[in-house]
Amino acid sequence: MPDANANPAGRRPLMPLDEALARLLAQAQPLAAIEDCNTFDADGRVLAKDLIAALTVPPTDNSAMDGYAVRTADCAAPGAELRVAQRIPAGSTGEPLAAGTAARIFTGAPIPQGADAVVMQEDTEALAEDGSLGRVRVQAVPQAGQWIRRAGEDVQRGSVVLTAGQRLTPQALGLAASIGFATLPVRRRPRVAMLSTGDELVMPGTIAPEAMPPGAIYNSNRFFLRALLLRMGCEVQDLGLVPDRLEATIDGLRAAASQNDLIITTGGVSVGEEDHVKAAVQSLGTLEHWALAIKPGKPFACGTIARPAIEEGGRDLCHVCGLPGNPVSSFMTFLLLVRPFLMALLGARHTVPAAVQMMAGFDWPRPDRRREFLRARIGADGRLELFANQSSGVLTSTVWGDGVIDNPGGQAIAAGDTVRFIPFSAWLA
Ligand code: AMP
Ligand code: MG
Repeated sequence: MPDANANPAGRRPLMPLDEALARLLAQAQPLAAIEDCNTFDADGRVLAKDLIAALTVPPTDNSAMDGYAVRTADCAAPGAELRVAQRIPAGSTGEPLAAGTAARIFTGAPIPQGADAVVMQEDTEALAEDGSLGRVRVQAVPQAGQWIRRAGEDVQRGSVVLTAGQRLTPQALGLAASIGFATLPVRRRPRVAMLSTGDELVMPGTIAPEAMPPGAIYNSNRFFLRALLLRMGCEVQDLGLVPDRLEATIDGLRAAASQNDLIITTGGVSVGEEDHVKAAVQSLGTLEHWALAIKPGKPFACGTIARPAIEEGGRDLCHVCGLPGNPVSSFMTFLLLVRPFLMALLGARHTVPAAVQMMAGFDWPRPDRRREFLRARIGADGRLELFANQSSGVLTSTVWGDGVIDNPGGQAIAAGDTVRFIPFSAWLA
């Protein structure tokens, strides 16, 4: 297998993705501020403290069915007839169950003392009797404990129900509410500024497609990056296209750094390319260029701009990530590096989604020496299909695909091989 980091004459050494990620994460310190968020609005936020249950859920043994609470000893044979001595709807409590009687009970209602099973309504016959709750015939012999939901089977009082660093899902909001939390302690939203470089870029809406000058292209990166950031719960400041003057660029970056935790730039990070953003970041702080051993997405820059802290106890610097301009490279480097970095700022425990093992339904005989992220989708036979054009400029591949195959550098793939697949859904959550 070729060495992915080999350095043929004239080429910069390539940095393995894992090393780049480790270096980036080493820079990330969770944001200091924690805020109380209404539980209704906390979907997608990262919990900043453990949630401990102050009560047991369910609080008491209760019925899992509409039916009758009984003593199994009274129903040892099919067809037992019992007097219905009480009625217990959800939200009320009954009396102790006397021997030889049944309690009409509804889902969620507490099991009366003395009862040891619930018989579902469908397994009974109500025998009407004037002026009372009547009698009931229990057709089937109940097992002790049947249709009883036990106190504490969901949550034990004192237990940690959700842990700090957990990204909240709709289910987690329900669970937090079930133990009485109306607000949740969450990490504040990261503030992120975006800016694009490239004289060829045109914003959709400013020039009609048929009037585009030669060489002009629409700025597509700005759209998916903004949406990705919003999905992660960031506050986004869009600085647009930077003006083509060094002083103006420095002023713009300094202003953005003073209010943000991260500045994301796109374009202008390729080898040998000159642009004002690089020089401007360097004049305000530090900037490192990496040639990543991945495809798409080789060029990447990261740095910092010093500034006063924007929160008590916070850091006195703004981070900078420079993404490549090619749309698929920009998309992938965001997912592979910027997203984990933002997750770390949020104090999230899981920064990188897990890959799943899937079977390839195609051949990939000439792999790149770099680790490739191949756009693929799940076919009708459950095997992965590859998008025909894997070029870093073909954004269609990311819409056609369900995710990417994470293929080690130099590894050929044959139909039937098991590959590592990362669904976009795991990244876009
Ligand atoms: P660069 O990284 O600046 O060399 O750009 C590489 C390629 O990506 C060029 O073809 C650019 O025109 C294109 N590109 C750069 N920025 C964007 C953008 N924001 N949206 C779409 N394409 C872009
Ligand atoms: Mg450019």
